[in-house]
Formats: sequence, C-alpha cells, structure tokens
Amino acid sequence: MTRLTSEDMKALIGAMQAAIAENAERLTALDQAIGDGDHGINMKRGFDAIAADADAICDKPTPQALSAAGMKLVMSVGGASGPLFGTLFMTLGKSLPEDFECGAFADAFAKAVDAVAARGKSSAGQKTMLDVLYPVSDALAAGKSVGEVAAVAAEAAEATVPMEAKRGRASFLGERSIGHMDPGSCSCSLLVNTIAAWISAKE
Ligand code: ADP
Ligand code: MG
Ligand code: MG
Repeated sequence: MTRLTSEDMKALIGAMQAAIAENAERLTALDQAIGDGDHGINMKRGFDAIAADADAICDKPTPQALSAAGMKLVMSVGGASGPLFGTLFMTLGKSLPEDFECGAFADAFAKAVDAVAARGKSSAGQKTMLDVLYPVSDALAAGKSVGEVAAVAAEAAEATVPMEAKRGRASFLGERSIGHMDPGSCSCSLLVNTIAAWISAKE
C-alpha cells in the first residue's frame, strides 16, 4: 500500500512545474506548427498556478489534492487542454482511494482517461493526448514497471507524428497536420516521464 505524504506531493508538483517550464518553448513550437502556438504557455500557466497553491493542495489527502490540482488547471489554463488535463486529474482524484497499490492506481487512471475521452468527444488514433494516455493506461493495467511505462509514453508521443489530426485545432489542417508531434501528447509524455523519474529516484 502506498500513501503519498504532503512532502511527496509537494515534490511531485515542483518536479512537474519545472519540467513544464523547461519545455514550454518546445511545447509552444509544436503548437505553432499545427495549432495556435500557446500550448507551452497554457501548460506553464496551469502548473505555475498549482505550484503557487501547493501548500494548501498538499495539506489534503491525495485524492482531494488531485481534484484540487485538476480544478486549478480548469480555472487557469485557457485552451482546450485545460479542461482535458483538469478532467484527468479530477477524475483520478475521484477514483483513487487514499491508500492505494499499483492495481488501484491503474483502475483509477483508466477511468480518468475515459473521462478525458468523454469530455473531448475524442478517441484513440485522432492525434490527441489520448494517444499517449491510452497506451500509458494499458501499460499500467499490464503491471509494467515505472521505467517501462515512461518508455511507452515517449514512444506513444513519437507515434503521433505520422497521424492526421481529427480533433482540436490541428484537425483544421487536415493532412497538413501529418509530420508533427501532437503538443498535448508531448506534454503527457513529459509529465509521465517526470513522475516516473521521481518514483525511480525515491525507490
Ligand atoms: P488550444 O488548442 O485550445 O490552443 P492547447 O494548445 O493548450 O489548447 O492544447 C492542444 C492539445 O489539446 C492538443 O495537442 C491535443 O493533444 C489536445 N486536444 C485538443 N482537443 C482535444 C480533444 N477533443 N480530445 C482530446 N485532446 C484534445
Ligand atoms: Mg494551442
Ligand atoms: Mg489556444
């Protein structure tokens, strides 16, 4: 059984905020190619807002902290990604028990990804963040190691390059969206890899 302490959650928030800040320009460049060029700015605004409120968020048990973080993303991120990442965190919070093991986390994550798909009226194969979230969810359900899950996320983000976008702004480009990585998929891979690195360092 795992229970994240307040210090653990603060460290995770700090690591995610730093990873997004370090990669904001890259995320924005990806969105300049096939969207409106604000994805890095949007994500940075969201994670800066979470970090600014980290003390209050991390005073709560993990499920409620996840819900509060998701709410911050919904309120602070302007674009499509705000409600979608917000839904991911909020549903994870709603579905995760306070003490959990890997199986319970995998179940909660699967519910959270389905909630993102419902919110976005989207599915796998449409060149969106779901193209990373579903493979990550499957890897968790299969009991893969932290390192393997991180590798799955990175490969899945790469695999969005040859896809044609069917949802979000990139879909306006039709076939011209082919040949670029989906920005939201890049963010998901970045966050999964950041969390995985934190878990590996702690183990
Ligand atoms: P916006 O497109 O409003 O400017 P962002 O640039 O922050 O928002 O986020 C764009 C990302 O959001 C895309 O790269 C994609 O991964 C994700 N996205 C957009 N629409 C959807 C959707 N309907 N379902 C799932 N993900 C989506
Ligand atoms: Mg954008
Ligand atoms: Mg936008």
